[in-house]
Amino acid sequence: MYPSVARAFFAAQERLLGRRTFAVLRELRESQFWPRDRIDALRLARFKALAASVYAHTPYWRRVMDEHGIAPDAIRSLDDVRRFPFINRQTLQTHREEMVWRGEGRRVLIARTSGSTNEALQFYTSSNRESHITAARMRGHEWVGVRPGDKEVYFWAAPVEINAQGRLRQVRDFLTNNYFSNALLLNEQVAPQYLANWTRWGVNCLFGYVSSMALLAQLVRKQSLDVRPLRERGLRAIVTTSEILSDADRQLITETFGVPTCDSYGLREGGLVGHDCERGTLHTIDEQLILEVIDPQTLQPAPDGTGELVVTMLMSQVQPVIRYRTGDIVTMSDALCPCGRTLRSIKVSGGRMMDFIVTRNGNWVSCVAILYMARTISGVVHIQARQERIGHVHLLLAVDESFPPDGKEQVLRQMRARLASDDEITLEIVDSIEPAPSGKYRPVISKVAEELRRAGRLTP
Ligand SMILES: [Zn+2]
Repeated sequence: MYPSVARAFFAAQERLLGRRTFAVLRELRESQFWPRDRIDALRLARFKALAASVYAHTPYWRRVMDEHGIAPDAIRSLDDVRRFPFINRQTLQTHREEMVWRGEGRRVLIARTSGSTNEALQFYTSSNRESHITAARMRGHEWVGVRPGDKEVYFWAAPVEINAQGRLRQVRDFLTNNYFSNALLLNEQVAPQYLANWTRWGVNCLFGYVSSMALLAQLVRKQSLDVRPLRERGLRAIVTTSEILSDADRQLITETFGVPTCDSYGLREGGLVGHDCERGTLHTIDEQLILEVIDPQTLQPAPDGTGELVVTMLMSQVQPVIRYRTGDIVTMSDALCPCGRTLRSIKVSGGRMMDFIVTRNGNWVSCVAILYMARTISGVVHIQARQERIGHVHLLLAVDESFPPDGKEQVLRQMRARLASDDEITLEIVDSIEPAPSGKYRPVISKVAEELRRAGRLTP
């Protein structure tokens, strides 16, 4: 599909869904160069509107504001955000129904967090909220040369079973130049197939998990696959997400594919937080957020700018997110970027880590596959796959009372299908699974993947 046609289809779709995405994008293109005091004035106006709205429309926030003596018209500065208490995932989950403003706008509906963390979360979103997030993402893509309507591959968790709704989505994705490739299982057979498909289609941008992109880059090198046709057919950038993009991985992916690798950082429940510009600076979406960095122990502002990120979403009146503790360790910076944009920037250090299980027959199965599998079975609170040696996977499962009597068999059967290999799988029900020191749950811990990587090998 020609970019102009795809852009027109996408714009039409957004209008149909009641989204102002392209109007917001036009605003964001301007405000990124504003003086900072002008951006801060915009934020303050939005913060005041948010405070008034949450007080008027949601019982939860009215109670919180009354308890903390915050009058809805008493917001004077951005620092007034500190008068609100912190919230976390649990708060969003437990109080969801008292937080939602159902009359916020069009298409108020429940969304679910994607598979990059171990705890599924449901929250409310709306056309308004989505249009701001989508526009911010589109602006970030423009920074690295990818325009609305360009062909983009989502190297992602593509659903295995395509139902009627899925088919409709396929048509829509075709019309808007989006294409899904399954990143959940990679091996030496599928890597060349993906490259051939993408080249034939003429992809402009690859978007996906850091771990899957890095693994694909390794497979390309190991098999000496020719990626020049991808560039000749239009590949301009690779945008990663959901995990820390280390310097080593960025270099590996960039050198392998011969195009810049850029990172984006977001939380489904907290919106897009940052996107790399062409200079490799992860700019924050200042127009839409108030960001704080705190010492996770004392809960006070971190003096050196390094600590846990706390997010306030200014454009989410449907389920307001105010002072949300992300658990991610970041460093914020006010330094000006040579790209000329006035947006501040952030570096993410302690964050999500996604690993693979490596099967005897050479499949690299992403932890996301295991999380998706766990979500189809009721009562699974946490899951962790541990792999000490090749040919064996040990599953730990923390469950609650809604776990069905045949739950173990269901898990084992689905796990076998996901691995697509005859490795031995053992399963143990435990009381709880401890998070990593960063506070994040690691769904896969694989010594096998670690050792193979260290040895520069991709097959056992
Ligand atoms: Zn920049």
